[in-house]
Amino acid sequence: MKNVYFIGVGLIGGSLALDFKKNNPNMIIHGISRKDTTLNEAISLNLIDKKATLDDISNADLVIVSIPVDATVNLLPTILDKIPDTGLVVDAGSTKDAICKIVENHPKRRNFLAAHPIAGTEHSGPSAAFSGLFDRKTIIICEVEKTAFKLQEKALKLFTEIGMRVRYMNPEAHDKHIAYMSHLSHISSFMLGKTVIEKEKNERDIFDMAGSGFASTVRLAKSSPEMWTPIFKQNKANVVEILDDYIQNLIKFKEFMEADDFDEIYNEMKNTNHIKDILKGIA
Ligand code: NAP
Repeated sequence: MKNVYFIGVGLIGGSLALDFKKNNPNMIIHGISRKDTTLNEAISLNLIDKKATLDDISNADLVIVSIPVDATVNLLPTILDKIPDTGLVVDAGSTKDAICKIVENHPKRRNFLAAHPIAGTEHSGPSAAFSGLFDRKTIIICEVEKTAFKLQEKALKLFTEIGMRVRYMNPEAHDKHIAYMSHLSHISSFMLGKTVIEKEKNERDIFDMAGSGFASTVRLAKSSPEMWTPIFKQNKANVVEILDDYIQNLIKFKEFMEADDFDEIYNEMKNTNHIKDILKGIA
């Protein structure tokens, strides 16, 4: 895998580029983006070696697509049209069903691997990229059997070399579970931030009183709406379903409060403390 093209050189693309290059110093990292200023920034941060355009991927051994998921769905068929028979395209999108469906009948489907690295931060763009983001994190691979064996083998080697554990899942199961584990947390954080901003008109008060609890719970509300809106759009059914359950729990909590039923309030929290055992070693 000598000529590697990154379409999208933000947090995920840029961080992957840094770690791939660290393990493979002879790799030539080419960057493709909408804006030239983004590529200039990626060069100045040493994320990429060269600027490129979509037409150049006819020369690619590997293309990593790390742009918002709606842009991935739009662009993926064209990317596959242009890739040589020996090349592989891997996407890093946070949804998998719409992305797998758009290429299911593409003549070069065997040159595509659907992936989701479960690693990230609330920051975006090239300046957010850093080496080590993927160490000891999971990468979910969907429909691995639809990718040519030799190509999947090369890609999985690159991912395991940077410390990732591989898990296989079908795209529908991925989107359902990720709605629970990631998408709901983002909505919850955004709406917590909104509620507090609306109540506390004075920004100085929020700043002065924000303890580590508030700061850590609201951290995800700093995430990019440009990336998250298409994720919620593509995973609407699963997100609406889990939001219903979450809202029911909030209503129940409020009803216990109104009824002065603090035994039940205690029980709700005590039962949920079990999350400590589930997340041991992660948080
Ligand atoms: P990011 O830091 O915002 O970088 C994405 C880059 O894509 C931007 O630098 C932007 O470059 C480019 N871009 C934006 N809109 C585009 C469009 N419509 N067409 C083409 N390029 C566009 O985002 P990221 O966090 O790296 O996320 C990239 C992908 O990884 C997404 O699919 C996301 O779902 C997935 N992912 C994210 C996380 C996370 O926690 N952030 C974790 C796992 C997977 P320009 O400035 O040139 O437009």
